[in-house]
Amino acid sequence: VSGLDRLKHPGLNKGLAFTIEERQALGIHGLLPARVKTQDEQVHLCKLSIERYEDPLNKYIYLMGLLDRNEHLFYRFVGENVADMMPIVYTPTVGLACQKYGLIYRRPRGLFITINDKGHVYDILKNWPETDVRAIVVTDGERILGLGDLGACGMGIPVGKLALYTALAGIKPHQCLPITLDVGTNNQTLLDDPLYIGLRQRRVRGAQYDEFIEEFMQAVVRRFGQNCLVQFEDFANANAFRLLEKYRGRYCTFNDDIQGTAAVAVAGLLASLRLTGKKLSENMFVFQGAGEASLGIAELCVMAMKAEGVSDADARSRIWMVDSKGLIVRDRPEGGLNKHKEKFAKDCPPIRTLEEVVDVAKPSVLIGAAAIHGAFTPSILRKMAEHNPRPVVFALSNPTSKAECTAEEAYVNTDERAIFASGSPFPDYRTKDGRVLRPGQGNNSYIFPGLALGILCAGLVDVSEDFMLLAAQALSEIVSQEDLDHGSVYPPLEDIQNCSVKIAKKIVEHAYSTGKAQLQPQPLDTEAFIRAQMYDARYSAALPPQYPWPVDGPKVD
Ligand code: NAP
Ligand code: MN
Repeated sequence: VSGLDRLKHPGLNKGLAFTIEERQALGIHGLLPARVKTQDEQVHLCKLSIERYEDPLNKYIYLMGLLDRNEHLFYRFVGENVADMMPIVYTPTVGLACQKYGLIYRRPRGLFITINDKGHVYDILKNWPETDVRAIVVTDGERILGLGDLGACGMGIPVGKLALYTALAGIKPHQCLPITLDVGTNNQTLLDDPLYIGLRQRRVRGAQYDEFIEEFMQAVVRRFGQNCLVQFEDFANANAFRLLEKYRGRYCTFNDDIQGTAAVAVAGLLASLRLTGKKLSENMFVFQGAGEASLGIAELCVMAMKAEGVSDADARSRIWMVDSKGLIVRDRPEGGLNKHKEKFAKDCPPIRTLEEVVDVAKPSVLIGAAAIHGAFTPSILRKMAEHNPRPVVFALSNPTSKAECTAEEAYVNTDERAIFASGSPFPDYRTKDGRVLRPGQGNNSYIFPGLALGILCAGLVDVSEDFMLLAAQALSEIVSQEDLDHGSVYPPLEDIQNCSVKIAKKIVEHAYSTGKAQLQPQPLDTEAFIRAQMYDARYSAALPPQYPWPVDGPKVD
């Protein structure tokens, strides 16, 4: 690459951090102002720059611009300001960015593979300039956060998630590939929007869709190998469950909305036990929503309760699920229980509302993931407080506009006794006696980056449920007494990179001890092995080392 290319290539550019020597040797001297900066100084400038924007969407545009300009600086900046930057790269702002993707579209990022390309998916993968891709996050845009079908505008999600792969778990940027499978959209507003960037047609379904996904999976393996991780993200419910079942075991894959969410939520629940003094199996659970998130969490809860020695039936009897038609019961007049819901169906007459279910079940844990804003009414929250000294309330729906209740509502309506966590971040809360509560964020980013790192480091293909429970346990163990004292069942977001390495370590060790690791031989020091593979956001020298030779050339005697 020429010197000028280095200035323009986001992976090589250092901006003003090129030294005078580098500038001269690379032939870019004079193309930069005199000042040479350290990366620390540049990070400081990023901070000043982003603070100038008040609109979160503008902050997002700034950050993506930075990523396009200077990759190392972007990852250094995000990595050092996780708590401030996460809400921009990820929920809630990424949701806004997806909704406005056509408007804010500047430069392409990731691969768009459309249903028109059926039969040529491999050729498109070959157009991607990097050959060593190890991790793909793929969406078809049908269920973006709790915002519904955003079609090709869903690309913001794989882009954001993979940015976190690197920022939070050090998976190298060139090994990450965001992909949107554009099979159309049923979102009429988008179809009518002149700014829409995707295929202007309704969603393709059925055999055509399935063949397309199948071709995609095979093309990924043909191009990048059997160990390339494919994380499914924000597919609509029926496809998400179906594709997970179809591909797990055979392909290196997991679904973050089902499995990653489950691990994060169960981690929070396990940590909450240290505040309630209970076993997991001594709780009663009510879920608002019986979709990917809720069913994933419920199944992992069952697994965790069974690990406490409880039978499958007893574990399931402690879980009540409410979907759009009310409590899930065996003889539902409308019928229509899928096999995942059936496993939690109660033998009792139908109950319509969440509040009535709370009256009957008297849950100790209330979990919301139905994207229904305000579903946890003050009255429901007060009932939780009546039945429990420390009611556990997780309002997981994203983005913030979909949350079941705010942190403040949860505290105010439970005499400040709630153990609260949410999907999107909420500000600290000051109690009447002046304590500060820091509501935990059940952010999937605690799990998926570290999980992915572990999977890649071990060469794991079959990501079975035991790995998800292990990740949940690992995360819950990181939660400190201090976190708990402040009402949080998660570690501070600032610690998330450490969480990633700890989770990866457990995943790798478990992969070897269960004989599922394909990378041989097993590393002697797991953590050192993992760390050695991680991305370094600091700049490396642009010039190879130089050293003097004798002036007259080698001596000949
Ligand atoms: P999903 O698979 O589409 O499931 C949504 C569920 O909500 C369905 O079971 C649906 O019922 C139910 N529902 C809809 N309207 C309802 C109503 N009025 N009352 C009760 N239930 C109702 O979606 P998902 O993947 O589970 O995601 C749901 C939400 O969770 C999203 O907002 C997402 O952002 C959030 N989420 C958060 C996290 C996190 O915080 N870490 C992780 C993942 C997802 P039917 O089954 O009857 O249609
Ligand atoms: Mn998701």
